[in-house]
Amino acid sequence: MAGTPRTQGDAAQALLDVGRFFTRWDESDDKRAVFREGGRAGDVFYRDRWSHDKIVRSTHGVNCTGSCSWKVYVKDGIITWETQETDYPTAGPDRPEYEPRGCPRGAAFSWYTYSPTRVRHPYARGVLVEMYRQAKAKLGDPVLAWADVTGDPVRRRAYQQARGKGGLVRVTWDEAIEIAAAAHVHTIKTYGPDRCAGFSPIPAMSQVSHCVGTRFIQLIGGVMTSFYDWYADLPVASPQVFGDQTDVPESGDWWDATYLMMWGSNVPVTRTPDAH
Ligand code: SF4
Repeated sequence: MAGTPRTQGDAAQALLDVGRFFTRWDESDDKRAVFREGGRAGDVFYRDRWSHDKIVRSTHGVNCTGSCSWKVYVKDGIITWETQETDYPTAGPDRPEYEPRGCPRGAAFSWYTYSPTRVRHPYARGVLVEMYRQAKAKLGDPVLAWADVTGDPVRRRAYQQARGKGGLVRVTWDEAIEIAAAAHVHTIKTYGPDRCAGFSPIPAMSQVSHCVGTRFIQLIGGVMTSFYDWYADLPVASPQVFGDQTDVPESGDWWDATYLMMWGSNVPVTRTPDAH
């Protein structure tokens, strides 16, 4: 019949009735409301994903001076997820509070922790390791071996030109430490201790690592540089001149500013003939 929706015809109703015959459920008299139970097995995956046995407080000490406070959810000894903690001391009644602190990197940190690509062993450039092992087998001494490899322009060029091209191989801690120690002894003997410049992990979080590295460099008469030299993510002039980290003036200080100047730039894109 013209004008009657095709979904409301006798055939459509017959099909719906057949469906109800094979699949029973409770429903209202007008059949508009259906009441069913169960069928939520698919939720289990999501409930498991966010379940946990306990919550511990922690932060992210790798390559970060932020030290934001996080609630870390743990199940069966495994970090499952994290959320920002919100119990910082108040900044005072006349200024905005800090919390919540944290960044996307921190929110994904449990993924780093168990990532198959996380570095767990010492690695060294393969071409250098092979040359060092050959020299050590020939000369029988780590320092002589290091001097032999680095003092030869051809072999030195070979491992220098391999930089940036991958080719890293796993080595034992003993061998990694031996090569590093041999390099230090050779440099001190040949050029003097002040030619050894070192940096350490951040003092803000990895205090023991920072202190150990700093003390070592000072004891041998070397030069301690800022850890920014390692990360290469911040200019070193500010901490070296003012003794303070460059990220100390942070967004909380915008509140105190009388003048704000903001600027930015587009990330360069491939230039086409008609692009200017
Ligand atoms: S949340 Fe981000 S800024 Fe804060 S400690 Fe973790 S990695 Fe650093």
